[in-house]
Amino acid sequence: MAEQSAALSPLLKQATPVLAARGEGVYIYDEDDRRYLDFTAGIGVTSTGHCHPRVVEAAQRQVATLVHGQYTTVMHRPLLRLTERLGSVLPEGIDRLFYVNSGSEAVEAALRLARQATGRQNAIVFQGGFHGRTMAAASLTTSGTKIRAGIGPLMPGVVVSPFPYAYRLGMSEEEATEHALRELDYQLATVSSPKDTAAIFIEPVLGEGGYIPAPPAFLRGLRERADEHGILLVADEVQTGFGRTGEFWGHDHAGVRPDIVITAKGLASGFPLSAIAAPDSLMEKAWPGSQGGTYGGNAVSCAAALATLDVIEDEGLVANAARMGERLREGLAGVAADHPVIGDVRGLGLMIGNEFTAPDGSPDTATATRAHKAAADKGLLLLTCGPHGNVVRMIPPLIVTADQVDEAVTLWSAAMKEATA
Ligand code: PMP
Repeated sequence: MAEQSAALSPLLKQATPVLAARGEGVYIYDEDDRRYLDFTAGIGVTSTGHCHPRVVEAAQRQVATLVHGQYTTVMHRPLLRLTERLGSVLPEGIDRLFYVNSGSEAVEAALRLARQATGRQNAIVFQGGFHGRTMAAASLTTSGTKIRAGIGPLMPGVVVSPFPYAYRLGMSEEEATEHALRELDYQLATVSSPKDTAAIFIEPVLGEGGYIPAPPAFLRGLRERADEHGILLVADEVQTGFGRTGEFWGHDHAGVRPDIVITAKGLASGFPLSAIAAPDSLMEKAWPGSQGGTYGGNAVSCAAALATLDVIEDEGLVANAARMGERLREGLAGVAADHPVIGDVRGLGLMIGNEFTAPDGSPDTATATRAHKAAADKGLLLLTCGPHGNVVRMIPPLIVTADQVDEAVTLWSAAMKEATA
C-alpha cells in the first residue's frame, strides 16, 4: 500500500490504516481478510450496510439497462420513481426535487435557490457547522479552520451565529438555546437585516463540528424567526437524513418543518447522489436552467436509492437506529464513567460523539487520537470530529445488531484502557 500510494497527493488524510478489500454488512475486510467492525459507514453513507444484496441487485440490473440517462437531455424511470418515493418521505408540501451528486453541490444548489426565490443575498449559519468543501459551501462551513484556511477570499454575505453547544458553554441545554437565539436576534438586528437574509442553514445534529444535537426548542426558535421575517429555513440533512438519528429526518425530532431539505450520504447506500427538495411555490420563483449538472440523478444511483428506501422500510431501519442508538449510548456512557477524560457522550440515534476533555477543561485531542487508533488496531473503525479533533464519533450502518453494538462497546472499552494506560 505504501509503495502504490507514493503517487497519491499528501493532501489526502486517511483516518485508519486499512486497505479495504471488500465490505459486507457492518464489516470491512482488508486484503489479509482481517475483519473490522465499521462504525464509520464511510462517513455516514452506507446506512443499509456494505453491499446490501437488494441494493447490489438493483444497481447491477440498472447498470445493464441504462447507466447515464442525463436528466437535462432525456428523462429516465429510476429518477421519476425515486422522486415519487421521496415525496412520500419528505414533509408534506416539500414535494419538488432535483438532483446533483454530493452534499456540497446540494448545499450550493440550495443557496442558489434561496437567493433567487427571495431576491436576498445573505445566509446565516451556526458556528461549528459543516456544509461542504466547494467554495460557497466552504464559506458556510465553520467546523474547523482547516476547511477555510488559505483559500479565501470566501463568499461574502455569510453570517455566523453561535450554536447551542451546551457542554462547551457550561450551560444547560435550555440556557444554551436561549443564549443562541438571543445572539441570532442580535445578528439580525446588527449585521444581517432580515430584508437581506435569504436563508438560515442548520444541521439538525451538528456533524463534523462535534456531533451535537440541536435542541428541539432551538429549531423551533429558528422556525419562528424564519416565519416572522420571510427567511427560508434550510435543513442540511446530508448526514442526519434517512434514519440516521432514529427518525427519518433529523428535524422530525423537533417537529419543525423546513422550507428546503438537502439530502445525500445515506440516500443511495454509497452511490453518488444528492437531492434538494422544496415546495412548488419556491421552485417556481427560481430561474429555469440555473441548476443541474452532467451527472446529477445518475440512473444507477437512483436505482440504488430506490432499493435503499425499500430496505429502510422493510427492515425497519429507522426504528432500529433509535433502539440501537440508545443501547450504544448507554454502553458508551458506561465506558465514560470509567474514564473521566470522556466528558460528554451525546447524540441522536446512531450518530454519537464522545468528547475528550482534559482536567483543566481544554480539549484532549491527544487521548482522543490514541483511543481512535487503539480502536482501529483492535478491529473497530471510528472517526474523529470537532474543531480540535477531540470528539470520537460512532456512525454504524443502521442495520447494526445488538450483538454488534455490544462488541463495539467491548472493543471501545479496551481501546480506552490502552489509550489511558
Ligand atoms: N453537509 C453536511 C451536514 C455534511 O456532513 C457533509 C459531509 N460530511 C456535507 C454537507 C458535504 O457533503 P459532500 O462531502 O458529499 O460534499
